[in-house]
Amino acid sequence: MVATILVGMLCTHLLCFSVMFWLVSKRLHGKKMGMNIFAMGNLLLGCAYVLQLAEGGPAWSLMSVVNHTLTLAAPVAYWLGAMRFFGRSVPVWRPMLAVAATYSAAQVLVQWGLGPVARYAMLSGMSALLFLAMVITVVYGVRTFAKDLYAEMVFFAALIGGICVLNALKFMRLVDAGLDGGLDALQMDGNFQLVFYIYMSSLATVLPPSIIWLVLRRLTDELRNIAARDPLTQLLNRRGLTEALQLYFNSRKAEPAYLLLVDVDHFKRINDTHGHPIGDTVLRHMAEVLRGAVRRGDLAGRIGGEEFLVICLDSDVHGVRHLAERLRAAIENQAVHTAGAAHPLHCTVTIGVSNPFAGAHAFEDAMREADAALYRGKAAGRNRIEWPPIAQGNQPTQSASTSTTRPIDKVV
Ligand code: GH3
Ligand code: MG
Ligand code: MG
Repeated sequence: MVATILVGMLCTHLLCFSVMFWLVSKRLHGKKMGMNIFAMGNLLLGCAYVLQLAEGGPAWSLMSVVNHTLTLAAPVAYWLGAMRFFGRSVPVWRPMLAVAATYSAAQVLVQWGLGPVARYAMLSGMSALLFLAMVITVVYGVRTFAKDLYAEMVFFAALIGGICVLNALKFMRLVDAGLDGGLDALQMDGNFQLVFYIYMSSLATVLPPSIIWLVLRRLTDELRNIAARDPLTQLLNRRGLTEALQLYFNSRKAEPAYLLLVDVDHFKRINDTHGHPIGDTVLRHMAEVLRGAVRRGDLAGRIGGEEFLVICLDSDVHGVRHLAERLRAAIENQAVHTAGAAHPLHCTVTIGVSNPFAGAHAFEDAMREADAALYRGKAAGRNRIEWPPIAQGNQPTQSASTSTTRPIDKVV
């Protein structure tokens, strides 16, 4: 009686959450994050338990064969759904149909060759193996594709590990009882079965909201990412830069930062001569060069038309000088190949550097310093790096000063 109530509750949970996953997937236009496949997994398992209730007890019938096939297909669906969630475009229908057809045939053969207990043992053994494969995937994911979801993945591994162990124990109990023995070990009200159903009911209650939590996390992360990035170049925008800087300065061992304002020289001419789309290609090219030239940990962003910002973290004045020159030279030396222009385009940039600053509140001051330096660099002939006045005491050497020659050429 208790077991029947538990299985009834299990069915209700599985089917209700199946509907919820499906509704969520409907809201996620295009990228469904595997929610439709999770809905299918829950539906399959829910139906399997409905059939089990209808059967009443272990038996050899068409209903039982369908029940076992659905029970085994459900974890396959969950696994495929998880792959979709992590952005893998795995096929669904073919593997599911192949599993269903193969497993149904295997059941007939095992029942015929080894008897009914062997068929139930096969279900437990196969389920244990599938859940083990899921645990291994989750553990692998923690180290690779799901690093950002560490706590969640460990939680999932523990929960799925539990059901894997229970299935393995069930398999061993059936094998111990003797494959040619009776099906007593499977009676619904047996102690082991009760523990099994209690655990399954808990899983069916805990796992779906956890999956919804994962979706929510991914969506909010994506929204934050969209809000923090420039759509043309995918570099950080001003907001993203400020947030990243705040995070950096909130860590206790943060060193002062330097700000490099990078402005494309005579960019308007490129637009006027070749058109706006080619101008956009040049901007994307600039972003690529910046990404390749900055060090790991530095911040690169686009803050307006043809103005880019690099924030050099954990570096000293010599490191900043080298970085600035590397950027300037990389842009000067790498031609932009565009489909619309007859010849590759050559661009240069002028870079204004700020004094070192130690706090997100000093960001605006650093911007003003870098902007003033940039203005002087433009007036002095462009394609150069300009530092704040020596009076502020942070210049690397006399040669990298505000002289009207190209000082950086001498120091690098
Ligand atoms: P300088 O050497 O003094 O920096 O001259 P400049 O021509 O680069 O600077 P100016 O500020 O005169 O021109 C910037 C141009 O950038 C004007 C504007 O049309 C163009 N622009 C701004 N945003 C975009 C964009 O998203 N795409 C393209 N293609 N052009 C843009
Ligand atoms: Mg410009
Ligand atoms: Mg400009």
